This record gives sequence, C-alpha cells and structure tokens, in this order.
Amino acid sequence: MGRTNQQTHDLIRKNLKHSALYGGHIKGRSARYCPSFEDKIVKFPERESHRVILQYEGLDSKEIYASGLGNSLPIEIQIEFVRSVKGLEQAEIMRPGYAIEYDYINPQELLLTLETKRIKGLFLAGQVNGTSGYEEAAAQGLWAGINAASKVQKRPPFILDRSQGYMGVMIDDLVTKGTSEPYRMFTSRAEYRLILREDNADLRLAAIGHELGLVNNNTLKSVQELKNNIDTEISRIKKAVIKPSKAVNNYLESKDTSLITTGMHLDHLLKRFEMSYSAVEKLNPSNESVSPRVKKQVEIEIKYEGYIARQINEIKKYKDMEKIKIPETLDYLAVPGLSNELVEKLGSIRPASLAQASRIDGMTPAAISVVMIAISAHKRKGSS
Ligand SMILES: Cc1cc2nc3c(=O)[nH]c(=O)nc-3n(C[C@H](O)[C@H](O)[C@H](O)COP(=O)(O)OP(=O)(O)OC[C@H]3O[C@@H](n4cnc5c(N)ncnc54)[C@H](O)[C@@H]3O)c2cc1C
Repeated sequence: MGRTNQQTHDLIRKNLKHSALYGGHIKGRSARYCPSFEDKIVKFPERESHRVILQYEGLDSKEIYASGLGNSLPIEIQIEFVRSVKGLEQAEIMRPGYAIEYDYINPQELLLTLETKRIKGLFLAGQVNGTSGYEEAAAQGLWAGINAASKVQKRPPFILDRSQGYMGVMIDDLVTKGTSEPYRMFTSRAEYRLILREDNADLRLAAIGHELGLVNNNTLKSVQELKNNIDTEISRIKKAVIKPSKAVNNYLESKDTSLITTGMHLDHLLKRFEMSYSAVEKLNPSNESVSPRVKKQVEIEIKYEGYIARQINEIKKYKDMEKIKIPETLDYLAVPGLSNELVEKLGSIRPASLAQASRIDGMTPAAISVVMIAISAHKRKGSS
C-alpha cells in the first residue's frame, strides 16, 4: 500500500488537457463511484495524497494492478505519473490505463420483465441498460433470462416488487425512472430495507426460486424447516414469563440491565438494548436444540419487531396500490386534468400498476387520483 504525492498531483493538473476524460474526447457521465485519478484531482483538490494499492493479477502472473491509479492519459505521461509514487520509481507499465465510453439503451424502453417494448422477444440485461457493476449485471442477467424462458414456455412473467428483493428495486428504478448516469444499486434506494436483509434472503425467496425450478426440493425443504423452527422459537419466547427472584435479578444486574419486580415476558427482556438471545436463553432455555441461524433470526425479529411491523404495514399499503393494474390501452391524452408533461411520461413509460405510476418523477397525489378514476372508467367501458 502506498500514496500519491504533490508531485503526482502537479503532473496530473499540468496534463489535464491531454486526458481523454477531461480533454473533451469523452462526453458521457463517468461512473460516480469508480473515479479516475483525474477525477480525484479535479473533484478533491484539497487532498494532499491518494491511496494506491498494488494487487497481483494472479498467482502465476508477473502483472500487478495499481488500484487507485486508473486514468486516461497518454502513455508517456502515465509512465511519469506511476513513477512519481514512492516505491514505484522503477516500475514498468505492461498495460496502460484507459477510459471507456459506451452507449446504453434508455431503460424506460423496457417492460418490467426487461423485454424491450419495441421488439417483442428481445430482452436486455446489464450495463447496456445504463447500470454499472458486477452484481447489477448478474442480477439483470438472471431476471431477463428467467423472463425470456418464461415467455417461451408460456409461463407468467417473473417480477419481484420493491418489497421482495433488491433486484425488484433496481429493475423498478430503471424501468420507471430511467437513469442519467451509470446506475448502482444501494441499500439506500430501497424503502423497505429493514425487510430486505441478507440474513433472510433464502427465507424470502426460496419458494419463488423453487416455483421457477431454480431451487431444488431439498433446499426448499430445509428453508421451510428453518422457517418453522424460527416461528416455533418466537412463540415460545413470547409465551415464557420470567418471575422476579434473587437469582434472576443478580443475573440481570450482571448484564447491566434494570431489575424486575413483577413477572416479565421473555420477549420484553430480549427487546432491551443490553440483552441478546444468548443472554435471555440462560433465563429460560428451550427444550429443543436451537441452531445459531434460528437464534439470530429470533433475536432480529423480536428486537426490531415494532419497526418491522410498521414496515410490513407500509408494504401492505404499497401492495394494494400495486394490485390496481393500469390497462395497456389506457389513453392518457383522454384523461382530463393531467399535465402535458405527465401525459407524455405516462404514455412513454406505460406503468403496469398505479404503484409504478406513483413513482414516476413529477407524479402528484392529484394526478394519481385522476389516473385511478380513468382506470375505473376504462374498466366500466370494457365491461359494458
Ligand atoms: C476497468 C473496469 C473496472 C471495473 N471495476 C468494477 C468493480 O470493481 N466492481 C464492479 O462491480 N464493477 C466494476 N466494473 C463494471 C463492470 O465490470 C461492468 O459494469 C459489468 O461487467 C458489465 O457486465 P455486462 O455483462 O453488462 O457487460 P460486459 O461484461 O461488457 O459483457 C458484454 C459482452 O458482450 C460481448 N459483445 C459485445 N458486442 C457483441 C456482439 N456484437 N456479439 C457478441 N458479443 C458481443 C462483449 O465482448 C462482452 O463480453 C468495472 C469496469 C471496468 C471497465
């Protein structure tokens, strides 16, 4: 691990005009979260140095990747640049750094299945949809692949909503809002992230995977068993009452938590900041053996019960809106009270549900009510 220095930074400043990124050769927006070295110099002028990490490219490779030095300068300057870092004075460049620019399809051109609206049967996945990142590309590949297969097999489309998985959040963001810069998936983009935890991913999604033929029977069975064991242990803990006694209060004192004077439910003790599953377990252990995975889930589910319940309630409201489907043939031009901007956006995005419509940039509660009325009128017309 090393650091760049003032000499390095002066050299970059002096040669910015030769940089592909800053010399006007590249017009696209660069990936915000993988800044080039020129970006770091321009965006953080106050920093006196930046970190450089040397990483072997492989066990048998002589090549070393200088992480942190990515740039788009001409090779002569790159040699000087690399050699300005202490420890790299005699380094040879085997392959220079580079910048890439690529075109993408506006993801608003896609259905929620990642099939293009214009060419039926063509599905797009990965950075061609305006994303950046390995996981983003992999998740879309899986999603588009499942949907392409489902279409051929005449099965229902595979769509996870925003409350079911990060994939659902990403696809909905892309298709509904589009993106003006390389899109990355962040936990902060998910409004239901208290539910979308990595510790419960299999509990949330195994049954869906099984239905698609992607999760085998044994795996599904073990996830179902796990779920049952968690539920059983949660209800046991909720029923158990701890009576005050000298031994109990001595124990609570040793945990730095307040003493009890009347009987208290075990789950209330577990909700205390100072108490964990393993701490309350000692007061009232289960007769069955409880696996570490179950212990962790029980602790999370009980400790954060209030917050989780509130979020489940929000999800219920959101799902109610998601259930209100918008007919594909709804003519937004004929909907009175919608601004020209919203008519245009609704017409080009063609949201599948009222919930998706509500997430379009610029959508107002008043416009949502108008669309809702138009859906009812459309249905009445269809059925009469
Ligand atoms: C230098 C660099 C470092 C990066 N570091 C990271 C990182 O640390 N973490 C991270 O998450 N992401 C990183 N990324 C981004 C990440 O690599 C990409 O976003 C991701 O790999 C995109 O995957 P993809 O499958 O969409 O596209 P690609 O991996 O580009 O796959 C597209 C494929 O299509 C092929 N192809 C193109 N045209 C045709 C054609 N006409 N016919 C047949 N095949 C064709 C291409 O050869 C290519 O194999 C980095 C990117 C770069 C350039």
